[in-house]
Parts: sequence; structure tokens; C-alpha cells
Amino acid sequence: MKVLVVEDSQLVSRVLQRLFQTADIPLEIIFCESLLQAQEKVDLYEDIFAALVDLNLPDAPHGEIVDFILAQNIPTIVLTGSYDDDKRESLLQQGVVDYIIKESRFSYEYAVQLVHRLLKNQEIKVLLVEDSSSYRLMVRKQLEKHLYQVIEARDGQEGLAKLQQDPEIKLILTDYEMPNMNGIELVQNIRRDYETSELKIIGLSAADSPALSAKFIKSGANDFLTKPFNYEELHCRVMHNIEQMELIAQIKDAANRDFLTGLHNRRYLFEQSEKLLAQPNNKTCLAMMDLDFFKRINDNYGHDAGDAVLTQLATLLDRSFNRFLHARIGGEEFCILLNGLNLDQAEILMQHFCTLVHDTEFVFGDQVLPVTVSIGLIEQDDDNFDQMISRADEMLYQAKEAGRNTVKCE
Ligand code: GH3
Ligand code: MG
Ligand code: MG
Ligand code: MG
Repeated sequence: MKVLVVEDSQLVSRVLQRLFQTADIPLEIIFCESLLQAQEKVDLYEDIFAALVDLNLPDAPHGEIVDFILAQNIPTIVLTGSYDDDKRESLLQQGVVDYIIKESRFSYEYAVQLVHRLLKNQEIKVLLVEDSSSYRLMVRKQLEKHLYQVIEARDGQEGLAKLQQDPEIKLILTDYEMPNMNGIELVQNIRRDYETSELKIIGLSAADSPALSAKFIKSGANDFLTKPFNYEELHCRVMHNIEQMELIAQIKDAANRDFLTGLHNRRYLFEQSEKLLAQPNNKTCLAMMDLDFFKRINDNYGHDAGDAVLTQLATLLDRSFNRFLHARIGGEEFCILLNGLNLDQAEILMQHFCTLVHDTEFVFGDQVLPVTVSIGLIEQDDDNFDQMISRADEMLYQAKEAGRNTVKCE
């Protein structure tokens, strides 16, 4: 997909290009300098995702580009050198996503972040709980302008039901006064099952009840907007809440991963295995894997070579076992929980992986390193995870005793 930048200043284009590159956004940037060129590009490409446009172009000095791009149903972000309230109002009326005043480097950063935001918003579901159909329609239109997927409910009860049906809902906007279940009751119900870090709630209500905002927040809402609200404020609050949630998810993920290989770590394995093993009637096997004579690789080729081997092995593991829980649990030790497999099935997979490692060329610089693994494998009995680990460890020990580069099955 592509992002179209229509801007006659070379300087601004260069700044945007650099920012898009450093932000690592998976979009191809198409630059053009005039309305005419933009028309050509729009004819040429069908996959233009969004456009960043300058209001003042040599062949379109009065913002004519905005009407043109919006008519193609392409989300439009306006860059403008000057600001006044009337212009702002009329642009937002026209339906642009946002307008950005070219004042500082931060303005351009914001523009690039906004394009990235729109790209991510396509995957985010927002539940809008509101009994007034006209208000629902208005807010829905605003959210859709920012490419969120919107789900509607007419009261708290329906909202709760829709939330339970759809685990992908990440944000809820809820009115207060509604039949069947009001907004505060809805929030209280939701917070019995959903943490504030995994599902954000913004309360909406009329201004005549000043204590309501605090009540919403004390019941578990994250934020509050008083009706009638300015759409820019709605977007700012929504964006702020979504970004905060993403940030927490990133931090959690980082805490669950090993820094060198990016694989899940021991902590995550233990946490998740508990949940997996609690599922009834589910055959599970556990494999413990350890690199053979890994110390020699460090000694002979250096620690960096050792790190490269670990990283390459992690890639193989991820590819081979992506549907199973797997983790780096120690220096050169890995663990795979083969959920839903019996011992025979698991043994075939582990044998295959052992051979794959042996046959794979591990390269560091211009050297090919000798890498093999030993694997111990067991099937869950009535034991807990710790006991399973120590049984698998015993089998791993036997695999080492048997000469390494092999799988030992209990
Ligand atoms: P065995 O076949 O019996 O497992 O022999 P081994 O040499 O693999 O086992 P040993 O436990 O003696 O040595 C493991 C080595 O792994 C020692 C340690 O320096 C190295 N190691 C652990 N973590 C890392 C790491 O993150 N990077 C590198 N490069 N080496 C690591
Ligand atoms: Mg209402
Ligand atoms: Mg080892
Ligand atoms: Mg070891």
C-alpha cells in the first residue's frame, strides 16, 4: 500500500521522507508536487491508503486538492502553512482526518505518526454504546474517518452482550443515560472481567451532571467526555487511550521475552503452561533441548558467534513450532510444550527438528559452525509442570550420555 504526499516544497518532502523511513511504516511513499501530478498518481495506483496534502500548490492555491482526494475516498491529512479558525472548521466539515500546521519538526512527526495510526486503526474494534441513533451515527462517522471498525449497541445490556461476543473490541465509548442498563452499570459490569490495561472505556454524557465524570472514572472508566464535545477532542482522547494501551502491551511483551533471541522467556513459559495444562483431557508432551558443546563455540569462535548461533536457532524454533508454546529458559536451553500431541507424534516432530539443526548451516562471518542439539521428551502424566520439567531434564541428560545430537524419549 502507498501513502501519497502532495507537497511542492522540496524541503518539506525531504523531511517527511526521512521521518517515514525512520518510523519504519510499511507503506510506499509516492511524492508529487501539484494537483495535476496527484491526479495522475491516483489514476495509476489503486492502493493509495492515505494522503498528506499541502493546501497551497502551484496549480491549486486554495486547497482544491482536498476536494479531489476526498472524492476518491482516500483519508486526507492536510498540511498548512497558516492557521485560522474558519479554515480549520471548513476543513473538518469537508471530512479531512486532521490538519497540521507546518510550524516545527514535531508537526511533521505528528503527521507521520498519524498515518501510522490510521494503518493500525484498521485492526482496532470500537464499541459505541448510545441510545440516541443520531448521536450514534455522528460518532460512528467520526471514528470511521480514522478507520476504526465500529460496532454499535443501543444500551448497556446490548453493549455487554456484544463485548462478550467479540474479544477483539479494544475500546468502548458509552453514554450514561440509556434504557435497560446505564453507562455506569455497564462499566461496573465490564470491570468484573476486563482489566483497564486490556480494554479502555470512555464515558460520554451531557453537562448537567458535574459529578458524573468522577463516577464514571471511579467505576472503572479510563476517561470522560462531556456532550456536546468537539470532534478533535474526541479523536485526541480516543488516540491517547489506544496508544496508552498499546504501550502497556509492548512493555508486557518485552517483559515476557528474551532480549537476545526475541523468544518467550522462562517466566512466560511457566505462566502460560499453567493455563494450558489446566485444559481438561488434553494430551501434552514436553521437550527440553540443549545445544551440544556450546561452550566450545564460544571458546573457538568467540561469544558473538555463540550469540549468532542462539539467534539462528531461535528462528528455526519459531518456524518449526509456532503453534506450540516454546521458550528460551536458560543460556542455551529451550523448552517446547507440545500441547495436544501424544508421545509418538511429539517424537516424530522432535526427531525431525534434531535432524534439521544438524543439517542447517550455521554461519558466522565466513565460518560454518558445527551445531547440534540434544533433546529429552516426556508425556504428561498426572504431574505438575515442575515435575514434567525435571522428568524431561532427566531424558535430556540421557540424550547427552548417549552421545548427543539425539532425542531421548521416556
Ligand atoms: P553440553 O553438550 O554438555 O551441553 O555442553 P555445553 O558446552 O553446551 O554446556 P555447558 O553448560 O558447559 O556450557 C554452556 C555454555 O553456554 C556456557 C555459556 O558461556 C554459554 N552461554 C550461555 N548463555 C549464552 C549466551 O547468551 N550467549 C553465548 N554466546 N553463550 C552463552
Ligand atoms: Mg442517552
Ligand atoms: Mg549445552
Ligand atoms: Mg546447558
